[in-house]
Amino acid sequence: MMARGSRVAWSILERLGRFDGGSNPPYPIRTMKKPDAARIYAALLKRYPDAREPAGKICRGTPFEVLILTILSAQTTDKAVLKVKKPLFAKYPTPEKLARAKQEEVEEIIHSLGYYHAKAKNLIAASQTLLDTFGGSVPGTMDELLTLPGVGRKTANIVLYHALGKNEGIAVDTHVRRLAERIGFSDTDNVAVIEKDLMVLFPRKDWGDLTDLLIAHGRATCDAKKPLCTGCVIKGMCRWVRMGKNGVTPPSP
Ligand code: SF4
Repeated sequence: MMARGSRVAWSILERLGRFDGGSNPPYPIRTMKKPDAARIYAALLKRYPDAREPAGKICRGTPFEVLILTILSAQTTDKAVLKVKKPLFAKYPTPEKLARAKQEEVEEIIHSLGYYHAKAKNLIAASQTLLDTFGGSVPGTMDELLTLPGVGRKTANIVLYHALGKNEGIAVDTHVRRLAERIGFSDTDNVAVIEKDLMVLFPRKDWGDLTDLLIAHGRATCDAKKPLCTGCVIKGMCRWVRMGKNGVTPPSP
């Protein structure tokens, strides 16, 4: 039987994400198996049947609109972004119009959002790149999207899935990052590693919907500060509960 000191040590290593799973640990970090991940996916899908078609969200619209709104959504809420959607596209409905915009006039429309200086600059530069390199259309590959100013993998994944119907990766936002670590899909808070771990655990056809399900669960149940574990539909499969953390206010993500 494992001595108490060893169990505590493994537990600490697990929480710190420092165990690489290479030997025979009493509490391995990487315990999640594909069938368990599939059960969790099915439970979340049953709990949030509308999450995969988020009506009225920033990811609805033309590819150009989805791209622009997703760039704007960094470090801010969808609700705040949706407030600027109408005036922004009324004045700049196309890449041609936005590429020719004066930065201060774009800033005037989006000034309620965080980082609006940088975002206005990126919107204009991204529109110019669409014109210069992609014939005015939103490109359809990850590598191409990553050449656009203001676009990282998260934004590119959202545009690819919601605007173009492609699963090339998995968008890891703040909810996905927090839940992946808590539930036990991944052992790190590094978004690039989390994305790779999720891509291994889940079939490609589910990648885009997985993000929407985890966001829905993060908003409704698995709050950053006060997760509602008692009523959670996946509490029986969640690492957070297995580690005895339910009922305990977790540290900020
Ligand atoms: S059991 Fe708790 S920590 Fe785990 S997913 Fe549910 S709410 Fe989040």
